Amino acid sequence: MSNSPEKYADVILPLPLEGLFTYLIPEEFNGKIAPGMRVVVQFGAKKFYSALVRRIHNIKLENITAKLVENVLDDKPILSESCFLLWEWIATYYHCTLGEVLKAALPSGLKLESEARVSLNDEYSRAMLELLSPKESLLLGIIKEKKGISVFELNNTALKKGTLPVLKELLKKGAIHIDEEIRESYKARTETIVTLGAAMVSEEKLLRTLDLLIKIPKQREMLHIFLQENEDIPDLKSKAYPKKALLMKSGASLTVFNGLLKKEVLAVYEQPTDRLEAGNEATRAIFPLYPAQQTALDQIEASFSKNPVTLLHGVTSSGKTEIYIQLIEKCLKDGKQILYLLPEIGLTTQMISRLLEVFGKHVGVYHSRFSDAERVEIWNKVLNFQPGSQDQSHQLVVGTRSAIFLPFSALGLIIVDEEHENSYKQYDPAPRYHARDSAVVLSTMLKIPILLGTATPSVETYYNAKTGRYGLVELMERYQQMELPEIVTVDLKRAYQRKTMRSYLTPELFEEISSALEKKEQVILFQNRRGFSPFIECKNCGWIPKCTSCDVSLTYHKNTKRLVCHYCGYSIYYPSVCGACQSGDITNKGFGTEKVEEELSLLFPNAAIERLDLDATRSKKAFQNILHRFDCGDTDILVGTQMITKGLDFEHVRVVGILNADNLLNFPDFRSHERSYQLMAQVSGRAGRRHKQGKVIIQTSQPDHFIIQKVVANDYEGMYNRQIVERKEFKYPPFYRIIRITLKHKDFTELDRIAQESAEALRSRFGNRLLGPEYPAVGRIKLMYIKQMWLKLEREISVTTAKRQMQQMLESVKARDKNKMVQIVVDVDPM
Ligand code: ADP
Ligand code: ZN
Ligand code: ZN
Repeated sequence: MSNSPEKYADVILPLPLEGLFTYLIPEEFNGKIAPGMRVVVQFGAKKFYSALVRRIHNIKLENITAKLVENVLDDKPILSESCFLLWEWIATYYHCTLGEVLKAALPSGLKLESEARVSLNDEYSRAMLELLSPKESLLLGIIKEKKGISVFELNNTALKKGTLPVLKELLKKGAIHIDEEIRESYKARTETIVTLGAAMVSEEKLLRTLDLLIKIPKQREMLHIFLQENEDIPDLKSKAYPKKALLMKSGASLTVFNGLLKKEVLAVYEQPTDRLEAGNEATRAIFPLYPAQQTALDQIEASFSKNPVTLLHGVTSSGKTEIYIQLIEKCLKDGKQILYLLPEIGLTTQMISRLLEVFGKHVGVYHSRFSDAERVEIWNKVLNFQPGSQDQSHQLVVGTRSAIFLPFSALGLIIVDEEHENSYKQYDPAPRYHARDSAVVLSTMLKIPILLGTATPSVETYYNAKTGRYGLVELMERYQQMELPEIVTVDLKRAYQRKTMRSYLTPELFEEISSALEKKEQVILFQNRRGFSPFIECKNCGWIPKCTSCDVSLTYHKNTKRLVCHYCGYSIYYPSVCGACQSGDITNKGFGTEKVEEELSLLFPNAAIERLDLDATRSKKAFQNILHRFDCGDTDILVGTQMITKGLDFEHVRVVGILNADNLLNFPDFRSHERSYQLMAQVSGRAGRRHKQGKVIIQTSQPDHFIIQKVVANDYEGMYNRQIVERKEFKYPPFYRIIRITLKHKDFTELDRIAQESAEALRSRFGNRLLGPEYPAVGRIKLMYIKQMWLKLEREISVTTAKRQMQQMLESVKARDKNKMVQIVVDVDPM
């Protein structure tokens, strides 16, 4: 090693390889390359990659001739030093390479990987074509001709190593897409607009109606407000007002509104709302906080000054969001950026509408369903943000987990909403990071406050708060002192014995639903399984169709008449005869949301029923549309999986039914009790949000189960106290760290052998801190047999050292010739 006059760039390649790679910076690029810029480098025989410069130095490595940097893609860095520090922490803690973090962190539009596919943007207008340079036109011609050509293939065409810079330009101009599978955004969101109905043909008729409505004052009041809002529009047909606003202004219920619809006094239509572009103005002032809420806000601010990580534990409907809004407002005024994390894309829409009302043009959104061009655009806006500059859009970014990677230049606050949600953890592929925990680390690096909010904290977070590592603020009052729902259990076993069940409903739940429907109140039903039946069975011989690639039975989906594997997607037609004995006597076992939906439509033929689960929301925009129809009262009963439990805010739900709590409680995982509590408490929180106390009915065959009792008593603390004792006793987080090692192999006996071998190696170092190997609940997925081991490490042990040792051992096992075919996946803090 020696110092040389030449300059070198250490770069991160977008590949799952350890470490940085060193390239020589040629004369022509001297002074034009800085950390955080992308350069084009060759790796392997012919492949060109866009790599990210981490460091520049002049240390020459002996005996190695470094390849040259081929080209430079940026004229200034696309991310900051703090981004790199976060990446490095993630790579070390979650045990993966920087290249893997890079892949997760950068939007594909900034990656230009060799394997990425390039295609023409159909929306790119002809007129724009003339503005392209000759090189750009040339490349565009090739892309047009060869649909879905890869960056690698393009590299071998006319422009060779000059390809990537030209691609970058084309991308910037919006002429192409890179690797784009899911192209959708909230472009097609709609808003319900109220107009006068068909019966209101004349001014005279209108006045007469107002007279007649004297007997129904609420309807009259609503119509009055509608007319008032349209005072300056004389033409009857042109009078229009958003439904949501009308309901809010009048304070009346949906029943009142629906009454007017029925009489054709009012009518509605759907109007697409604009993409949430800059230029939106705020439409409401910030609500003043009620006293307990104000106290909570004061406590949070006091806590921040001592402990930048603070947990806000506030019951459902306590108005946590309004508290966030206050904190955000202050931060915006200080000219700082805010990151607001949500666990699911589906939730962003509802939250964004709320934030948009208050913060207008400052709000930006970021998640994986946006197109490349949009994500790159947002990336740049966040990067270039400066206090006081013209473009203040994206000063507040609402996003899902990958938003933690955005290149904030002036981040002042992070909010993690619904911090207990599992979906903050990335399961596959690496980096298997937890966005909440990574955000906590980021906040520490940047020395800025972070607020974790939820009604049902994760045991880990609550423990941290209780032991003083995090600040803790609790808000146990609901807005307008709305009552918590009444929660009751109904014994499923008894109802089945007495044969009083109506389909999947106990008489108690059936009655509640009927009475709610009569009063035009809404109902949510929760069933933790999607599809029609979890499996089908031959009555004659007991044959159950299974997946050919996974160790699970196939789930019947009636809508598509298919049996589907929920692990790999394999599917077959519903068989007409048994696959073993040819008998035609096949029955459906168990029930999923699809079946519940069908049975409900028989029990309540006049109710409008919808389903919210993975199947119903696969198509674009379906999620938002289903929620929207429920929100504005077009749907009476919503049946769903855990999708419906996640922080959605509805105003007219009175009854919530949990069809079978046993499914949740009996799940074999150390977190299943905590999760059952969270799911049930969250779904219960949907009941009776505004006008009336709600009712929750939990159907279970274990009404005396500790967790159920705690849900009924709304006793989070009690649940936590018991959990924390068990966690300690059985060596689980937060007292121990868990690293899960998953081995996968096509061959069953080989897997067994290698698993034994790895376990022995690991045991020699970690002793009985290693558990397993064992088959997981599903022992084969996508043709690969699976075995798992768990390392349980005391908090005091240095994880970094432990991980390094584990890595060495696993590598030496894998390095043996006969073990080559095994796949090893390491997951730190698995969920
Ligand atoms: P949480 O997030 O705790 O479940 P939200 O913030 O969604 O609660 O509040 C529940 C409802 O109460 C929302 O519709 C919200 O607008 C309303 N709300 C909460 N606090 C206030 C307040 N101070 N003034 C007016 N409305 C409020
Ligand atoms: Zn059979
Ligand atoms: Zn399968």
